[in-house]
Amino acid sequence: MIQKPRGTRDFIADSALLREQITSAFILFAQNMGYKPCQPPTFEGVGLFKRAVGESSDIVQKELFYLKGDEEKYALRPELTAGVVRALVEKGIKSMPKPVNTYTLGNVYRYEKPQKGRYREFTQFDLNSFGEQNAFSDAYLIANIYSLLKKIIGSDVKIFLNTLGSPKTKQKFANELTDAIGKNTDKLCPDCKLRVASNPLRVLDCKLGCKDEIGDIPQISDYLSDDEKKYLDTVVAFLKDNGVNFEVDDTLMRGLDYYTSLVFEITMPDDSSRSAVLAGGGRFDGLVAQLDGPDVGAIGVGLGLDRIVENIKRREVKQKCEYIICPVSEEYSKSAYKIALQLNQKSKSARVSTAYNLKTSLSDAVKGDCQYVVIAGEETKNNEVIIRDLKKNSQEEVSIDEL
Ligand code: ATP
Ligand code: MG
Repeated sequence: MIQKPRGTRDFIADSALLREQITSAFILFAQNMGYKPCQPPTFEGVGLFKRAVGESSDIVQKELFYLKGDEEKYALRPELTAGVVRALVEKGIKSMPKPVNTYTLGNVYRYEKPQKGRYREFTQFDLNSFGEQNAFSDAYLIANIYSLLKKIIGSDVKIFLNTLGSPKTKQKFANELTDAIGKNTDKLCPDCKLRVASNPLRVLDCKLGCKDEIGDIPQISDYLSDDEKKYLDTVVAFLKDNGVNFEVDDTLMRGLDYYTSLVFEITMPDDSSRSAVLAGGGRFDGLVAQLDGPDVGAIGVGLGLDRIVENIKRREVKQKCEYIICPVSEEYSKSAYKIALQLNQKSKSARVSTAYNLKTSLSDAVKGDCQYVVIAGEETKNNEVIIRDLKKNSQEEVSIDEL
């Protein structure tokens, strides 16, 4: 038997239905905020991810799925933002009215060690907003995502928040951190030993907890300018005002290089080690220019569908079922399919039960939460059927055209 590749999953019937319902909720949410869809391709030139996500990031170093291409080396996208920015720059974001607000739903690919909540193919939903630099609009986005996740999951979630300041502040802090790690480098995991030289901030994001080996970690707040502090304070005040469950954590870093200024992660409230982050995001003010576009600021958030689904409390899913058409014998099969066709053409949900046994079809209808059972028998010769309404517990003979 051929088996699915490691780190992938098959979603069939109810499990797929639940994912579809959540993605519909994501899309409706984004559209209600006035965001428009942006759909870049599933693979891009490797150079894009190197430049956007960062040459020294885990994603580029270890997690890319390479494809063989003719002209250049391609990789399956490990995240969505790089492709969105590339697409907007290519389309001429400079002349587009700002803000440019996009949403993107898609599968992404990372060559990870598969485990619960960590797959090689998974689904992200991204919101990205370009051309607005305003603490209120950032806080509004975060507060809105918080409410959306609470609603979908059916319980509270928690936001962790930090600011990395401007690229200059981020660099100053990184230098201090390198000094602070200094003699403790030996205690770090092999990956982090390399990170100290290539990208020391990553040590704070290490999944093996190297953060705890550093000793006294310098505080980013000591390096922030007054404006950068005020910006974070404004976001914090707005979140407080609007009932968001959040905490400022000044050791929060993200695994992707393009973030500057505000960064955040969303987890279940009991996941204090943030081992299964549901969503992550932040500002990436330099990325558009870095990918040869104009100097426009941006903020984005990526929601991980798979981890969100794994935390949903109520997993009841229902597929709409209005009519089950039951031919009493094979002779009435043709009429039954014709009736189903007419109902489907009117955008009603209808399917034929070929059990040719009313009792079986009725129990099928009850199990499937179907409201009407249409019995196609002798009466179809007069263009009529018997319709039983299972909710009202009534039955009548009606003309097929009235269905
Ligand atoms: P982590 O720190 O857990 O590795 P990340 O920082 O790599 O996450 P992002 O790149 O920010 O994650 O991706 C956004 C979201 O996508 C995450 O918050 C998470 O919900 C989800 N995600 C990331 N990697 C995986 C994976 N391998 N399998 C399933 N979901 C994932
Ligand atoms: Mg990761």
